[in-house]
Amino acid sequence: MPRKVIVLSEIKDGSIRNVSFEAIAAGKTIAQGGEVVALLLGESVAHLADPLFHYGADRVIVIEHENLRHYTSEGYSQALMEVIREEQPGGIVFGHTALGKDLSPKIATKLDSGLVSDVTQIEASGEDFLFTRPIYSGKAFEKKRIKEGILFITIRPNNIPPLEKDESRTGGLEKKNVEIKDLRTVIKEVVRKTSEGVDLTEAKVVVSGGRGVKSAEGFEPLKELAAVLGGAVGASRGACDAGYCDYSLQIGQTGKVVTPDLYIACGISGAIQHLAGMSNSKVIVAINKDPEANIFKVADYGIVGDLFEVVPMLTEEIKKLKA
Ligand code: FAD
Repeated sequence: MPRKVIVLSEIKDGSIRNVSFEAIAAGKTIAQGGEVVALLLGESVAHLADPLFHYGADRVIVIEHENLRHYTSEGYSQALMEVIREEQPGGIVFGHTALGKDLSPKIATKLDSGLVSDVTQIEASGEDFLFTRPIYSGKAFEKKRIKEGILFITIRPNNIPPLEKDESRTGGLEKKNVEIKDLRTVIKEVVRKTSEGVDLTEAKVVVSGGRGVKSAEGFEPLKELAAVLGGAVGASRGACDAGYCDYSLQIGQTGKVVTPDLYIACGISGAIQHLAGMSNSKVIVAINKDPEANIFKVADYGIVGDLFEVVPMLTEEIKKLKA
């Protein structure tokens, strides 16, 4: 049965995040021919709506308010709840991002609805849907069904492909006034520790360094390799604890979870807590001096060697291929 689905769009560095296009694709699947409505929140964001149509949104609702300039769960939930009250959706899709993880339980509680988080696959099962999500730090997967009420899910970035971009697609853009008020928290300033460019959780290529990188300067060859591949740099907790890089780069059980097309682990031993954040990457390449390192057990390609020799060689070879 067709249902209306609301998709929350996210903005990073002045453009829509890729995970929001993936969320539209997920929304299309569960809408079963119903309308997919993308919601765009911010201070002055209406000009960003076009790509949402290109990737399949039927309508875009824009709410602009000074209290939505930065994300706060209070501000966003006021805006979102107003739209939900008016639109009465049968489905809601968020990205499983920092924002999605923070906001989705709050909204689900307000709606008294179920929520399946971190969905990596959606399968139709008759009139119903089965949502696959990783459990036990990615060592197993479970399939969940929402038996009644709103189909509310968050999707893991890089798993559900977006629809093909069609720049001729347009749709209805609606600006809506919602009073965002009585916020108990106000964001004064955002101090950013990550660099601009490719977001680690959405990157198609991640080049990660561990304690084997030995220093902050040791990350330079990894940054060069990531740059030629158009990817992002990540790290093990070992590297973060040693002060070689910021904790915002940490991948693993207590860091970020990534599922890129290509993960290159440099000087990382492959502790279970690190694997929890990257073992579902599509292709894993490990570079390590120790042939017995655990990381080779999950690697598709292993290079036994000194990362300070191997990584620059890889960078040069890729540059040649691209020339
Ligand atoms: P090491 O284990 O010291 O490995 C360094 C590797 O570099 C070695 O295999 C060595 O052979 C290789 N090497 C050294 N020099 C070179 C060279 N020149 N060239 C090539 N290879 C070289 N860890 C995470 O990563 N993410 C998490 O989220 C996380 N959460 C945790 C949560 C808890 C509750 C606990 C207890 C631990 C957690 N850890 C996490 C830590 C984890 O257990 C490991 O200690 C950590 O992952 C090790 O980091 P590492 O592989 O960089 O360092």
